Amino acid sequence: MTRRFNFGAGPAAMPEVVLEEVQQELLDWNGMGLSVMEISHRSPEFIEIAKQAESDFRDLLDITDNYAVLFLHGGATLQNAMIPLNLSPEGGTADYVNTGHWAKRSISEAKKYTDVKIAASSEDKNFTYFPKQSSWSLSKNTAYVHITPNETIGGLRFKDIEDSEVPVVADYSSGILSEVIDVSKFSLIYGGAQKNIGPAGLGFAIIKRELLGKAQSITPTMLNYSEMHEGESMYNTPPTFGWYVAGKIFKWLKSMGGVSEMEKINNKKAKKLYSFIDQSDFYENKINKEDRSIMNIPFQLNNEDLNSKFLEESRNSGLLALKGHRSVGGMRASIYNAMPEEGVDALVDFMETFEKERS
Ligand code: PMP
Repeated sequence: MTRRFNFGAGPAAMPEVVLEEVQQELLDWNGMGLSVMEISHRSPEFIEIAKQAESDFRDLLDITDNYAVLFLHGGATLQNAMIPLNLSPEGGTADYVNTGHWAKRSISEAKKYTDVKIAASSEDKNFTYFPKQSSWSLSKNTAYVHITPNETIGGLRFKDIEDSEVPVVADYSSGILSEVIDVSKFSLIYGGAQKNIGPAGLGFAIIKRELLGKAQSITPTMLNYSEMHEGESMYNTPPTFGWYVAGKIFKWLKSMGGVSEMEKINNKKAKKLYSFIDQSDFYENKINKEDRSIMNIPFQLNNEDLNSKFLEESRNSGLLALKGHRSVGGMRASIYNAMPEEGVDALVDFMETFEKERS
């Protein structure tokens, strides 16, 4: 068996030790003679898994008790509808910061349920920077301001959020657990699991309890944060397998020293790749240096005719899924927590050789 380096944006690479553990337990979980996928979500055994996962997630992000933590269906996208339905009153207004593909997705969905105002946008420079918080123009009576602190496709990152009078809602799908964040600065942090948390199909929400119980009357039960909270994320049958794997990833992160240690490793990995790209005339990353993502690194070849050759040869060298998103073109290396430093080293070596052979 040869495991390769997976640079895909999501579903993304998972820690090998976690996959091995899952494999070992697959047929006989905890000596019960069945798979964890086959046990009731209401059984004491599964409830223990669920509670432990929540407790480890709380530890990792230092989430205080005034926040509810939810494990939900539907990835991040379903929450793009849940957010206005739960946080904005009927006829209300909500502000959005437009930073690219995923922010736009959130905006177009929210428009169905609230009056959306654009507080700031980096469209004027093709989403190559993250508008400074001081430049956000917030509406009077806005229910919240929505940001996408890590734009997975564009490769943008927002860091160092300051206190805000308006509740801040953040789609942290691709940034969660990659660096230390101050949860207390946010009213709602949400996302899909399939980058840094676990298998696709699972979503998470970290929501200030004071925001619960205010949903618009048309809100479907499954899209109501309060109902999900009251049902302990088990109003209906939850994605049990994803939840179980997420629990294992949280334990793995703890064994790695937690989020602050991961942040150090992630910064080191990202720096290696950006430094290599920046010193080369053959490759380019167009993002404003201080706003560059440490998780998703898009880059272009100066000769686009070489794109398919680059992809073919990288794949043959065991470096998978480097094709950039169709809206941006070029390449993208997603280097989430589970991507070891050796993966980045192998990519840089490959890029260097590919460049030399064509210069
Ligand atoms: N937001 C961001 C920042 C993402 O990266 C993604 C998925 N790549 C989504 C939202 C959509 O997530 P999902 O597919 O889980 O709905």
